[in-house]
Amino acid sequence: MFTTENWQAGKSIIRRLKENGYEAVFVGGAVRDFLRQKVANDIDIATCALPEEVKLIFKRTVDVGLAHGTVLVIEDGVPIEVTTFRSDGEYEDHRRPTDVKFVRSLEEDLRRRDFTMNALAMTESFQIIDLFNGRRDLENRLIRTVGNPIDRFKEDALRMLRAIRFSAQLDFSIDHQSLKAIQSCADDLSYVSVERVTAELEKMWVSSNLHKGMTYLVSSQLADQLPGDFPFHHDKWSNLGNPQNALVCWAFLCLLQDEPSVTELTKAFRLSNESKGRIKQLVKATTIRSERMFTVDDFYLFDEEILVHAESLVHVWQIGIPPMPIETILNNKRSLPIQSKSDLVVTGKDLMGWFSKRGGPWLKEALSAIEMAVLHQKVVNDATKIKEWIMNESNSEI
Ligand code: ATP
Ligand code: MG
Repeated sequence: MFTTENWQAGKSIIRRLKENGYEAVFVGGAVRDFLRQKVANDIDIATCALPEEVKLIFKRTVDVGLAHGTVLVIEDGVPIEVTTFRSDGEYEDHRRPTDVKFVRSLEEDLRRRDFTMNALAMTESFQIIDLFNGRRDLENRLIRTVGNPIDRFKEDALRMLRAIRFSAQLDFSIDHQSLKAIQSCADDLSYVSVERVTAELEKMWVSSNLHKGMTYLVSSQLADQLPGDFPFHHDKWSNLGNPQNALVCWAFLCLLQDEPSVTELTKAFRLSNESKGRIKQLVKATTIRSERMFTVDDFYLFDEEILVHAESLVHVWQIGIPPMPIETILNNKRSLPIQSKSDLVVTGKDLMGWFSKRGGPWLKEALSAIEMAVLHQKVVNDATKIKEWIMNESNSEI
């Protein structure tokens, strides 16, 4: 998040570049968000100075993307990306330009940008440079490509998905011509790497206008081009509200399938093993919850996040399930005698001492038996009581 101090640091970078005879301005999302009076994600500066020239001016710099002309300048402890004005060469693979040309003109740099609202620049005294009517589109809350939309989407197919993601993040509409162009270029989404598709989807899913994004995803026909054959078009998406949570959306997408398969989903979208584990748990908890109220074992098995999400998801997924208040869920979870095995006051070492026996499979079994007994309040989590209980149990087994 960028604060007033961050803008001050940006201003001082621009001033220094200008003192050295170079043109420099704020560009991209930061200017858009400044005009919307929103806090910017990050601040970008564009300059006619070449990367090597930028590095000579500032003491603290990091080479983050020299090939693309980007140097990270650290000013008053604030890292800000400074990128040389560039124009992109030919696009051969519908994704990346084959080469990047550094240019000395701001206009050329702004022309290569995706949408008019992202092609605004601003001087250090907050004067707006608006060559493509970005301000008008911003006021009308419209996403419109800079130049011919078909050409721009043909150059870089990722822009189509960026348009949808921005519509959800900003609650903006997509200009009619741009939307039509997406429909006709939708096939080209296959040129975009799955990882980028996943990243854009997740940005949309944590936005505050999920429904808008999902509606565009379907009407633009991009949904049909996504990996696998998942129910992005399902009516139930409109009931999901704004969970602002990617995990919930992945689990929902999975549950909407006729035969929910987390493995298929995580493979198709190349999700991490960690995400796979979390989605699996949420799908499992929601399925359980659709069949019955949570039991002590469920409260123990799932963490609070999974339990709470499962409770909200189940009512979007299935109708007529009696609700369980979130407060009750949290109370039940928090009042369990233990939250995990590590909360037990006894260890394997204690057991080996009590039974004068060396470790082996019996130890794991005994610890699990103690864990379940404490969880189900057959014995309290106290070493003496547990010892008494387990001795008794083993005697009665003999
Ligand atoms: P966010 O708030 O998500 O960071 P942003 O507009 O800053 O939004 P970035 O992905 O950080 O988006 O890109 C910075 C700027 O670079 C954009 O505002 C746009 O001008 C330009 N840009 C980014 N990706 C593309 C693209 N694929 N094609 C053309 N221009 C792009
Ligand atoms: Mg940005």
